[in-house]
Amino acid sequence: MKTEIVVLTEDNIDENIIEKAGKIIKEGGLVAFPTETVYGLGGDGLNPDSSRKIYAAKGRPSDNPLIVHISTWDAIYKITKDIPKEARLLADAFWPGPLTMIFKKSDAVPYETTGGLETVAVRMPSNKIARAFIKASGEYVAAPSANLSGRPSPTLAKYVCEDMDGRIEMIIDGGASDVGLESTIIDLTDNKPVILRPGYVTQKMLEEALKKNVEWDRAIIDADCKQAPKAPGMKYRHYAPKGTLSIVEGDTAKVIKMINEFTDKARKEGKKVGVIATDETKDLYKADVVKSVGKRSSESDMAHHLFRVLREFDDDNTDVMFSESFEGNGINQAVMNRLLKAAGHQIIKV
Ligand code: AMP
Ligand code: MG
Repeated sequence: MKTEIVVLTEDNIDENIIEKAGKIIKEGGLVAFPTETVYGLGGDGLNPDSSRKIYAAKGRPSDNPLIVHISTWDAIYKITKDIPKEARLLADAFWPGPLTMIFKKSDAVPYETTGGLETVAVRMPSNKIARAFIKASGEYVAAPSANLSGRPSPTLAKYVCEDMDGRIEMIIDGGASDVGLESTIIDLTDNKPVILRPGYVTQKMLEEALKKNVEWDRAIIDADCKQAPKAPGMKYRHYAPKGTLSIVEGDTAKVIKMINEFTDKARKEGKKVGVIATDETKDLYKADVVKSVGKRSSESDMAHHLFRVLREFDDDNTDVMFSESFEGNGINQAVMNRLLKAAGHQIIKV
């Protein structure tokens, strides 16, 4: 299949291109599109064949459900049942934006879209290109991240092209994703709201909007937890660069010393070594390739750069990578969650 690649900017959206993209979705095809979190791989969320195609294009296990993207609040009624009052509070506070809510699904949503679940994930993105595209597509665009399964989520169209060229009808290049990490997922199907995936919208922000406690799915915060995560996608190895990645955690001076020792050893074995550092420390490493995820003091910087940095290590053919640890509250919890998965939970404490 020939993939058409088009370029749009948020302040100059070409309606003809949006119409064409919407038509592809309505006819059962697939279009990758920019959102503020990461690029999405979109198909008609109400068409089971479209969802099947998404799984095939990504090489994704079909028990890993898709998020349905809408552009207006009213679109929610057709695809959900029993909308709790918390949903409206969260929508008022965070939609359009990087928050996904889980509801009981209506019969309009095929099981192909929900990975066989009775629940459906819904998000209203803020990116203007995404919103116009969703509207032109008939309002229900099922979309996971537009990467091949297991690879880091794409935050630039060139990474979507790397993974999806020849597999889908169109890629809309809308520049770099603002947030750079996938949405926060909150489950509203139980009495207690539960975070299934950390993201840019933090636990504290959710609690402030709801004026009550919001819990974590235990399977996310406890790597040894035997219970399956409630967001099926969280159980898969994810975001993985091609080389091996280890996180080194502890006092900064000790971390730098240790990473430099590991680097010497790996280089003696003929390996190309990469380091994930911050602006404050990047000049202190001896590795072949040192990349900064931005200032340690800026959590949103680190979120914005992490996936790009992981992809760039692949472009540089690094064999072994070491990363500083970015533990903390707030957005850092999301950054660490992705980094831990990318590292297969390999963490060295110094
Ligand atoms: P992606 O957009 O690639 O990050 O994939 C969507 C994520 O949403 C996956 O990790 C899914 O596990 C999660 N998800 C989608 N629908 C549901 C649902 N009904 N219940 C729980 N998690 C969901
Ligand atoms: Mg994904």
